[in-house]
Amino acid sequence: MKEFELIQAYFSQRFESLLIQSGQHGVILGIGDDCALLSPCSNHELAITVDTSVADRHFPSDAPAYAIGYRALAVNLSDLAAMGATPRWITLAITLPEVDQDWLLAFSQGLADLCFEHNVMLVGGDTTKGPLSITIQAMGEVESGKALRRDGAKIGDKIYLAGELGLAHAGLKHWFERSKSQQHDDLIDAYLKPEPKIREALTVAPFASSAIDISDGLMADLGHICERSSQKNTVQAHIYLSKLSLPQVLYDGSQVDDKTLYNPIDAALTGGDDYALCFTVAESQEAGLLSAYTDQSEQHQLAQLTCIGQVTHPTASLDKVICWDDRTETQQPYIVSKTGFQHF
Ligand code: ADP
Ligand code: MG
Repeated sequence: MKEFELIQAYFSQRFESLLIQSGQHGVILGIGDDCALLSPCSNHELAITVDTSVADRHFPSDAPAYAIGYRALAVNLSDLAAMGATPRWITLAITLPEVDQDWLLAFSQGLADLCFEHNVMLVGGDTTKGPLSITIQAMGEVESGKALRRDGAKIGDKIYLAGELGLAHAGLKHWFERSKSQQHDDLIDAYLKPEPKIREALTVAPFASSAIDISDGLMADLGHICERSSQKNTVQAHIYLSKLSLPQVLYDGSQVDDKTLYNPIDAALTGGDDYALCFTVAESQEAGLLSAYTDQSEQHQLAQLTCIGQVTHPTASLDKVICWDDRTETQQPYIVSKTGFQHF
C-alpha cells in the first residue's frame, strides 16, 4: 500500500462524511494539498496545541489500536478544554513501523469517533516510517480575550475539580498486571480512553479565573497555576483530602498492591493521566458556576464537580500547593511520596 493510498483509505475518506454533515466547518481546503486552508470565526482567537505520544513512553505499544488513536487525540483536546476553547481542527503526524491495515483501521476509528463526538475535523498531516509515534496538533477557537489561562488565580478564589483523580494511574498498573490479576476494564479504560472535559470547560469558562488540565498529577498541575498566577502577589493553593472524594474503587483492598507500594491517595494526587479539569473561581462567581453546571448536566452527562480547596496568601511553607489531611480532628499537611511525572 502506497503512502497516498494509506492516507486516503484511513484518514481522508473517513472524515469526508463529517465535512458533509457539518457543512464547511471552517475548512476551505482539507487533506490533499500542501497546506490546509482554514477560516476561523471573526472575533475569536486561535488556540493551538501539540502533543506527541511515543509508544511505550506515553502509552503501551500493545494497547488496542482504537484506544491509541482515541487517547492521542483526547490528550490534545484536553489542552484545548483547559483554555476554554472549542476544538475545531486537527493535524496528524504519524510514524508507523509497518503498514498493518487492521491496526490502522482501528486506530483511525478511535481517532474519528472522538472527532465526531466533538465536531473536530482532520485537515492534514504527515505519514512516515519508524518507531510508532503519534503527534497531533489541535486547533480551537475562543472568543477574543476570553481564554482560560493559568495565570488568573487570585487570593480567595475557590479551587474546583471537574472529573475524578487516581483512576488512570490505577488503570495503568492494572494494564501491566492484567495477566496476573482479574481484569479491571473500567480502570484500564480510564487510562487508555480518557475523556477530555470539553463540555465541562465550556460550561465553567465564563465563571473561572484560571484553569489547567491534570496530565501530570493534581499537585504538580495546580502548582503551575500558582506559579503563573504569582506574578503580582504570590499565591498558594490549599486543598483538603476530605473534599477530594476519591473514587471508592481506589481503596478496594483487592486492587491495592503492597508489593508495588501502591497508595491510592498518592495515585490521586500525583499519578497523572487523569485529564480532569482543575480551575479557580472567585467566590462571587460560585453561585453562577454551580447553577450553570446543574443546567448543563440536565442536557449532557458532565463529570463530577467538586470544590477541593482555596487560593490564599502564602503561609510559612514555601510549597505552592499544600494538601491538608483533615480526616482527623488535628489537621496536618499530607506528605506525598512524589510530585508528578517528569520526562527529564
Ligand atoms: P507534502 O509532501 O507536501 O508534505 P504529503 O505527501 O506529506 O505532502 O501529504 C499529502 C497530503 O496528505 C497533505 O495534504 C497532508 O496534509 C496529508 N496527510 C499526510 N499524512 C496525513 C495523515 N496521517 N493524516 C491526515 N492527512 C495527512
Ligand atoms: Mg508531508
